[in-house]
Amino acid sequence: MTANSSTKSAGSELPRHARVAIVGSGFSGLGAAVKLSEAGHQDCIVLERGNDVGGTWRDNTYPGAACDVPSHLYSYSFAMNPNWTRSFSSQPEIQDYIRGVAERAGVLDRHVFNCHVKRAAWSEENNRWELSTTRGSMTADVLIGAFGALAEPKLPDIPGIDRFAGTLFHSAQWNHDADLTGKRVAVIGTGASGIQIVPAIVDKVKHIDVYQRTAPWLLPRFDRPFTRPERWAFRNVPGLLRLARAGIYAARETQVVGLAKYPKMMKPFELIARAKIRFEIKDPELRRKVTPNFRIGCKRMLIANDWYPALDNDHVELVTDGIREIDGNAIITNDGTAREVDALIVATGFQVTDSPMFDTICGSDGRSLSQTFADGGMRAYKGTTVAGFPNLFVLIGPNTGLGHTSMVYMIESQLNYVIDAIDTMTRRAINRIEVLPDVVDAYNDTLQRKLAGSVWMTGGCGSWYLDAQGNNTTLWPDFTFRFRQQTKRFDIDAYQTSSTADTEPVPALSGHTG
Ligand code: NAP
Repeated sequence: MTANSSTKSAGSELPRHARVAIVGSGFSGLGAAVKLSEAGHQDCIVLERGNDVGGTWRDNTYPGAACDVPSHLYSYSFAMNPNWTRSFSSQPEIQDYIRGVAERAGVLDRHVFNCHVKRAAWSEENNRWELSTTRGSMTADVLIGAFGALAEPKLPDIPGIDRFAGTLFHSAQWNHDADLTGKRVAVIGTGASGIQIVPAIVDKVKHIDVYQRTAPWLLPRFDRPFTRPERWAFRNVPGLLRLARAGIYAARETQVVGLAKYPKMMKPFELIARAKIRFEIKDPELRRKVTPNFRIGCKRMLIANDWYPALDNDHVELVTDGIREIDGNAIITNDGTAREVDALIVATGFQVTDSPMFDTICGSDGRSLSQTFADGGMRAYKGTTVAGFPNLFVLIGPNTGLGHTSMVYMIESQLNYVIDAIDTMTRRAINRIEVLPDVVDAYNDTLQRKLAGSVWMTGGCGSWYLDAQGNNTTLWPDFTFRFRQQTKRFDIDAYQTSSTADTEPVPALSGHTG
């Protein structure tokens, strides 16, 4: 199912005005809607371009799609799920969970589905955001950008790809009408998506060419179904779910020491990964091809037990020569070899540091987020507020990303901050907050100092963690509980504020519950 193919929509009409408009309804936007509702801020609306909640989990329906973080941690702390069927959930189960949370929280009627925000501009005159969408226009006092980092598929810039003669699709826009049975298939990309797709389709296709630009490091995946007694215990033993969650959290958090502070401490992981290659692949040439040439952790560490066995099949070729061009239905590598295929799957990731959404959000001086980020990369305060963009909160914003544990933890930390900010604005009749540029500078200087020694910067790889200028504007470089501490309360002293006195009241929306 893609963003536009679900039939599950059950939303409302676009209001003329809302206190809070949330753009996007993945884990972050939906979490914001639930938490705002719990805090008594009922006048909020979620503008969602697809026709269901779920974001990246709604869109990524490729075969084998599953999460690399155990389910008991990869879920909201306020909606823990004793019914996960296995330790690492698959995409359909996660999407059902997200949908269930939305239903139980009663926030679906605050959603406007199939509503693509084309432009959101801060009006200094009216002290509010003016939004133009595919479903009409509206205004909002506060804008929450929850459009996600893994939302915009990135297509490879290969000469001739636009004229590929066979079936072509991106992993995040899987074409379920394309029957790959008995077909010759090419997969470009060996990141988290590619390494799940290939094992899932390997037995049905005639042949697969896997185009690997950089070999990833792989660790074992300790995935298994939960037994019935375990699931009974999760449902009935008080505190067990929370304990399981805490245990997973603590175990994952230990990786931060190596990733962010002392990259040499990643060596034991590398030894495990090397042993895995030796154990799972017999062919010395294939072993050589899959062995990475950078320090483990520099790129996202992947977990899988079926990737190397899939590559070890006779009808699978791992192609490591770079792709020169595509001609008709042939992929031609730099050495001149042409390999013909019926279908081409590009598992080439997402536009993270250059999201098209950044072009659509314009601040107080009329400049868009992308123009603002053009000098020195994406920058925010606590990953959430941006100088020049009053009353805007970005979820999963700059330097809030993680490779080792649950993004839901970071999202909930940001939600604490945002809800406290909106509470504070309401309580103190503040109608405009804008983070002070000096505060943003100081915050980012500290972040970049911490990042300088991390494996992501020193490990000898390129990755989507870095932008085109080589800045790491995506990752949080510390223990996640430190981010939780930093975002516990809205620190109004970091902001320039003004109060409501001069703003014209906007008529209430007809039909909106407000
Ligand atoms: P990704 O990690 O960005 O990987 C993209 C892959 O495509 C890389 O192997 C990259 O090679 C290759 N590539 C990109 N452009 C190319 C080109 N022009 N020619 C040849 N190869 C090219 O994307 P992803 O696999 O979709 O994963 C993105 C993120 O989504 C992950 O990091 C993770 O956060 C999340 N995710 C998680 C899961 C999970 O939990 N299991 C599953 C899927 C996705 P290089 O390495 O050389 O750049």
